[in-house]
Amino acid sequence: MTTIADNIERLSDRLQRFERQYERSAASVKLLAVSKRHSVESIIAANKAGIEDFGENYLQEALDKIQHLSSIRVNWHFIGPVQANKTKAIAENFQWVHSIDRLKIARRLSDQREPSAAKLNVCVQVKLSQETSKSGVEIGEAEALCDSIQALPNLQLRGLMAIPAAEPDSDSQRIAFRALAKEYSRLKPCYAQFDTLSMGMSNDFEAAIAEGSTLIRIGTGIFGPRS
Ligand SMILES: *Cc1c(COP(=O)(O)O)cnc(C)c1O
Repeated sequence: MTTIADNIERLSDRLQRFERQYERSAASVKLLAVSKRHSVESIIAANKAGIEDFGENYLQEALDKIQHLSSIRVNWHFIGPVQANKTKAIAENFQWVHSIDRLKIARRLSDQREPSAAKLNVCVQVKLSQETSKSGVEIGEAEALCDSIQALPNLQLRGLMAIPAAEPDSDSQRIAFRALAKEYSRLKPCYAQFDTLSMGMSNDFEAAIAEGSTLIRIGTGIFGPRS
């Protein structure tokens, strides 16, 4: 049986190989373990194997895990759609939110983030193709939302995120990633700590790395199929 530690080792090897193959700097791509629908024990196993960043989509499930795991030092990333009535718990319990697509949500998160805490790191989610989830701003609207977020006191704007529609092969996967990377490069000089291009999942992370991803979000490839 392959263990979570084996999966992480193999994934890290591939990640490093792709960094070399696509002429990316060493350690320029971070690995976020997406632990939704997986147990606290699985998270502990991944943490022992060196993972320090975990992504969750469902608030109540995430809060249970965060409380359970309060003794280990990890960074929690909220990567699912954010409902307005959930922003307070997210602002209080997470270090990152990847899925901001409305100013209203950003404002609430900033208002509800404890000013004495570190700023909440956020990415703007961009919608890249018709078929994908309803979440995300159109690519042409990303800049305006970034500008507004930049002005909020308790958020730190870190970059862009997308979940493109599934494509069968690397060449077609790369098209959407390239569009996001282009917008990321254009906006990067405008903001002080804009250093995160959150794109790539278990089935398309090679294409994402090839196009400049700095953070891949991997669930199945680490933890196996979700229940
Ligand atoms: C579930 C999820 C992932 C991980 O997907 P896998 O295909 O299991 O790697 C990544 N990003 C987001 C936003 C997700 O919801």
